[in-house]
Amino acid sequence: MKTVDLFVIGGGSGGVRAARIAAGHGARVALAESSRLGGTCVIRGCVPKKLMVLASRYGADFDDAAGFGWSVGQRNFDWARLHEGVAAEVGRLEAAYTAGLEQAGVIVRRESAAIDDHGVVALAGGERIRARHILIATGARPAGAAGCEGSELASTSDDFFDWPTQPDRVLVQGAGYIALELACLLQRLGSHVTLAMRGQTVLRGFDDGVREHVQQAIAEAGVNLLSGLTLTRIERHEDATLLVTLSDGSVHTVDAVLRATGRVPNTHGLGLERIGVATAVDGSIVVDEWSCTSVPGVHAVGDVTGRVMLTPAAIREGHALADALFGTRRVAIDHALVPTAVFTTPEIGVVGLSEQLAVERHRSVDVYETRFAPMKSALSGRATRMLMKVVVDRASDRVLGVHLVGPEAAEMIQLVGVALQMGVSKAQLDATLPVHPSAGEELLTLRSPVRRHG
Ligand code: FAD
Ligand code: NDP
Repeated sequence: MKTVDLFVIGGGSGGVRAARIAAGHGARVALAESSRLGGTCVIRGCVPKKLMVLASRYGADFDDAAGFGWSVGQRNFDWARLHEGVAAEVGRLEAAYTAGLEQAGVIVRRESAAIDDHGVVALAGGERIRARHILIATGARPAGAAGCEGSELASTSDDFFDWPTQPDRVLVQGAGYIALELACLLQRLGSHVTLAMRGQTVLRGFDDGVREHVQQAIAEAGVNLLSGLTLTRIERHEDATLLVTLSDGSVHTVDAVLRATGRVPNTHGLGLERIGVATAVDGSIVVDEWSCTSVPGVHAVGDVTGRVMLTPAAIREGHALADALFGTRRVAIDHALVPTAVFTTPEIGVVGLSEQLAVERHRSVDVYETRFAPMKSALSGRATRMLMKVVVDRASDRVLGVHLVGPEAAEMIQLVGVALQMGVSKAQLDATLPVHPSAGEELLTLRSPVRRHG
């Protein structure tokens, strides 16, 4: 039986990073991937999604250009061409991931793997490999749809990137990251989008001001938002259209249904129970801050641990684990301050606490907020408003959270995240000279709180 120092199950963001770094430290590493190398982010997540978001924003840019003196001629959007371009880029990245692993000397197996016994991994083809350490980095998959008859007729984000043609009418279920991002991009590419959510407001867990601002902007852009509703039935009509029945009895005729109701960790069939790896109620693998499971020598990183389902978290966790096991650095990953962006249009960028959580956790909280028309709208005539909100602990003057909605929010929040990581105070924001003219300067010129709690 072949023996390695580390066997990685899953070749996505976390698994690939851990394998490469471990191999770089001189460890003998093997990795098994049952689908395409690169995982969710590269193949059916962040990368193709962001490219499609960028595509979807050109329509409004063409409109806006008129105010700046441009005449833009006839516009045609070609789904097949975009699809081809996105597929080519995804293929390029997949090849780069493969080459990176090969160059690092990682043994790659293109098949599914499971734990066979303590320190032994079994591959679907029958091979067994002995490993000093096993890393589970198998990610997550779209949640199923309990209570909806005919739910197999709905697509999920896993299928979305393979849609050969653009549906004219789409019903999206859910109101989280994926539902909103895909609803926005489809609507901006010309589909008629209805979004059905079980709650009243999108993006549960985000700052309430952000949620309301985004909900209104998306509705104004033309997405038909239906709140307080779930799907009860999907049927296929003879002409291939889908009839969707909602919980209020209304029936909607559409060309595609997209379900985005959360993601569940991929732990089934991994043999965890065979050696007693502890899992939580939601199926995620329980780990400590070092990504160690309940069984010595078995580790887990990324979505399968259900900590933070974001690519940079999976990558950092994988990197830190490889360093800790085979290098000289031992760093626990801090999940307390994770900057995140939702690539809706308008875009959202967030780091730190929402106003509501800040008030729960701190005695006295000041909230600074501004809504303004971005400079571009002076000539484009577009009636959009950008939202910026800074949440501050009054006692220490420390900035607890920053919330941005509008163009380039993701780019801005990335850098704001550095400041928060360093424990920036409101006074330090105020002391920073702004760049003019820019949207970001508004964040540094917020003089008086709009609300004071406590
Ligand atoms: P994955 O990348 O999912 O990799 C797990 C791999 O394990 C998969 O390739 C799978 O095939 C393989 N596997 C599973 N079981 C086995 C087995 N038994 N044997 C062998 N291989 C196996 N995050 C962001 O930060 N920014 C974004 O913009 C963003 N957009 C997203 C958009 C969408 C539509 C989705 C679905 C997710 C998005 N995410 C985004 C989340 C991000 O993709 C994940 O957090 C990230 O991919 C998690 O990495 P991972 O390594 O844990 O798992
Ligand atoms: P989210 O957790 O973001 O949202 C799930 C949505 O589905 C919520 O609106 C929730 O409603 C709804 N929902 C859950 N169960 C049901 C049900 N039984 N019936 C009806 N509605 C239901 O999950 P996503 O699938 O959108 O994304 C998964 C994760 O992937 C994200 O949390 C994020 O970590 C990651 N991701 C990150 C992106 C980024 O960084 N830009 C982009 C895409 C994904 P309710 O609010 O009422 O609970």
